[in-house]
Amino acid sequence: MPKTEGNKWVSEQACVYMAHTCNLACVYCQHPPNGHRQDPAAWAARLKKRGVKAVSLEGGGEPTANPDFFAWIRALKKSGVKQFMLSTNAVALADEAFCARACKAVNLFTVNFPSHLPEVYARATRSVKYPLALKGLLNLKRLGAGDRLRFFHIVSGFNYKYLPGFSAWIVKNFPDCSVSFVFVQNKGRALLAKGAVPRYSEAAPYIKAALARLKLGGCRAAVQNVPLCALKHFEGFAFEFQRWRRGDAALEGSLEPKAPSRQCALCALEPACCGARRDYLDAHGGRELKASRKAPAAIKPERF
Ligand code: SF4
Ligand code: SF4
Repeated sequence: MPKTEGNKWVSEQACVYMAHTCNLACVYCQHPPNGHRQDPAAWAARLKKRGVKAVSLEGGGEPTANPDFFAWIRALKKSGVKQFMLSTNAVALADEAFCARACKAVNLFTVNFPSHLPEVYARATRSVKYPLALKGLLNLKRLGAGDRLRFFHIVSGFNYKYLPGFSAWIVKNFPDCSVSFVFVQNKGRALLAKGAVPRYSEAAPYIKAALARLKLGGCRAAVQNVPLCALKHFEGFAFEFQRWRRGDAALEGSLEPKAPSRQCALCALEPACCGARRDYLDAHGGRELKASRKAPAAIKPERF
C-alpha cells in the first residue's frame, strides 16, 4: 500500500486528463466525456520535463473506464511521478481484483458518489449502478483504504435535501474518510438539466446541517464553491478560506474567476471567499450576496 507521506503533495499535484469516456451519465456532469483519447507517452514526457512528482488522474469522464488505466500509471511512474490521486465514481472498484490493484497503485481516492439513497443516485446518475458503486466503496474499506478515501459530493438540485442523511450514513459506514461538499457549477450537462443548480439560500441550511453532523461524528469535512455569506457560522469549513489561510489565492488559478459584484467589492471577507461565479449569477442573479465587515482572520478554521 503506498504511503501518503502527509498530504502536502495534494495541493501541489498536476491534473492528468486521461479519461475520455464514462460508465455513468450524470445529469449534472460538468465535464462530460468527449471521446478524445490522450497519449500517455506525451503526458509522461511533459510531466518529466516539469519534474512533476504528484498527479490527479481525471478528465472529462471516468479514468477507470479507460482500458489502459494501469498502463497510464506505469508510464507516469517511469516519468518520475510518485503520488497518485484518482478521481472516480467507484463503479469499476466493485471488481475486487481491480480494486486491490488500484489500492496498491493509488495513494488517495476521491469518489464522486452523489447519494447514499439508491433512488436519488439513480436520478442523478441516470444509471442502475448504485450496487456496484457501493461495492466499490466497501472494497476500498475492506482493503484498508478507508482513510485514503475522500468523498467529493456534488451538491445539486437532485440531492441537497438529503445531505444531512448522507452525513449520518458516512459517520456510520466510513468514519475514517473526509467529505467535500462541492456546489455544482452551471456548465456542461447541468446547463440543460432543469433544477440542477439550487439557490445558495435553498441549499445552505442542508449543507450546514450536514457539516455539523460530520463534525459531531468526528469526520473531516469541507465545503467548496459556496460563498462565505451563505455559510454564516460555518465559514471555517470553506475550502477557499482554508486556501487563503495557508497563503494561497482563494481560488485555484485554473478555475473560472469570481464574477464582479458590488456586494463583494464592499466585503471584508472577499480575499478568503470563492465569491459567486458567472455561471451562478446567470442562473439566479446576485441578490443573495451580502457584504460583511468580518475579517477573514476572525474565522475559526475547522479540521479537514
Ligand atoms: S460526473 Fe463523473 S461519473 Fe458522472 S458522468 Fe460526469 S464524468 Fe461520469
Ligand atoms: S459578499 Fe461576496 S465576497 Fe462577501 S461573502 Fe458574499 S460572495 Fe463572498
